[in-house]
Amino acid sequence: MAKRRKRRTRRKKYPIRITFSQGIVFLLTAFCLVIGLRLGLNGQAAGGGFTWEDIYDVLGVSARPQGLENLPSDAQAVHFIDVGQADATLLQSGQEYCLVDAGEASSEEALLSYLDAQGITRLKLLVMSHPHADHIGSMQAVLEHVQVEQVLLPDFDKAPYPTTRTFEKVMDTIEEQNIPVVTAESGQEFSIGEATLSVLASGVETDNYNNLSQVLFYSAPGLRVMLTGDGETEVEEDALAHCELPRADVFKAAHHGSSTSNTLSFLQAIRPRYVVVSCGKDNSYGHPHKQALQNFAMVGAQVLRTDENGSVVIAAAEDGLQCYTASGSQQADSAA
Ligand SMILES: [Zn+2]
Repeated sequence: MAKRRKRRTRRKKYPIRITFSQGIVFLLTAFCLVIGLRLGLNGQAAGGGFTWEDIYDVLGVSARPQGLENLPSDAQAVHFIDVGQADATLLQSGQEYCLVDAGEASSEEALLSYLDAQGITRLKLLVMSHPHADHIGSMQAVLEHVQVEQVLLPDFDKAPYPTTRTFEKVMDTIEEQNIPVVTAESGQEFSIGEATLSVLASGVETDNYNNLSQVLFYSAPGLRVMLTGDGETEVEEDALAHCELPRADVFKAAHHGSSTSNTLSFLQAIRPRYVVVSCGKDNSYGHPHKQALQNFAMVGAQVLRTDENGSVVIAAAEDGLQCYTASGSQQADSAA
């Protein structure tokens, strides 16, 4: 009797007793609740079921495309890094790299962890397509994280000079690190490993920074990529009027798949086999736009999207092109 009474007393003194394993279960439940709440708040649960990419999004970690470990060290590839409603495109020729744009500030961890996983400590070239935050938000972090040999900037004579704090910080960091800077001009060429990055056009006179975006053509053995940043119709019309546009295997949908870009005449000129849309899940802009998707379909391009496929890598392969995506789908496509 005395013993029983003693036990009861102890229970009263410690009304909540949690064992070690109960503690672990409690912490895991709390973690899942936080993840669930954040996904719900972001409206990401509406799409039907969670995926690993959702979890990576919440944790701020960019999922690596599946099978990327099979990419040979001398690969010729383009990596569309999933940085949400923003751009970060990595051009690879063997062990030399060029990064075009650096996403939002909020995707710093995702971007830097992707570069780390790729083993990158040095960029041959860092390109700023134009000075909007979804393209330069993590550029200062990149400049501080890896060694950058050279920076290609838009032609700021064509627009009012940017005054945002983000832009100033990027420019200050470039200056502090004494990195050589080149202003984009059509006809320029940059060597990246066995590949060449050509500036076909360097934006138009504008008060819309999107239209400062260069038209860039990356020509590597077995892989040709066209990048036009957020360039709108004016940029595409200018390129059609003044450039001999080559055919591209891969086109990064202009301006995240906006209807103010991706004109049928431009797409018909470059006839891409793949179009990759870099955009955020359930983004408020409605990117990619229905009209843009129709135009991609009309030129017979296969569309991949970072909001659905996660990071996308397209590499030259012996019998054509090989795609790697975080969602796991891989397609081999013979060269046409
Ligand atoms: Zn943008």
